[in-house]
Amino acid sequence: MADLVPLEMNFCRRCGKPSKPAADYPSRYDCENGHYVYLKPAPTVAIFFVTPENNVLLSVRGIEPFKGMLDGFGGFLDGKETFEHAAVRELEEEASLGPEAYEPLRYLTSSTALYPYQGENLPVLTVSYWTRLKAGYEVTPADDSAGVKSVPLAEIDLASISADDTRAGIQVLQATLLSNEVERDTNVGTNNRS
Ligand SMILES: [Zn+2]
Repeated sequence: MADLVPLEMNFCRRCGKPSKPAADYPSRYDCENGHYVYLKPAPTVAIFFVTPENNVLLSVRGIEPFKGMLDGFGGFLDGKETFEHAAVRELEEEASLGPEAYEPLRYLTSSTALYPYQGENLPVLTVSYWTRLKAGYEVTPADDSAGVKSVPLAEIDLASISADDTRAGIQVLQATLLSNEVERDTNVGTNNRS
């Protein structure tokens, strides 16, 4: 990570002249023709499956960066996808599950991270959701996911998690599900009846 550079923006995408960070606005690059290019994070989505026992099913990353580390299921948005559309697509690709297999996705939080890619640190903006599997369904890892690991939500080692955006999502999930005994019991009961 230490050897990676920030996102490079050496030339103006409008006119091809050299561009450089604006003196008064670090996330903007200016060229000599006065074109402004703003650095924006790439949108990504992450989904956490929670079991009735409040274990979290995490994806073992099958590709670099962070290969072998734990992550939510998910990935980058494609084209004009919404976060919700990307979540459904990614769960089909990485967990082999259609939307009939899990409860409606519940928003957790948004968070940022740096994603090492081709020698740069690509800023990403991640929206996280959680859900529970319906009875009779299980995660079958595929595509960018090399495996699934069930970890007690209260005991997750944050150092085993791939990046800051996923860590932030897990911490909000812990605050959401572990801090309210009544809510947790209600959710477990709902799940057991299905
Ligand atoms: Zn230009």
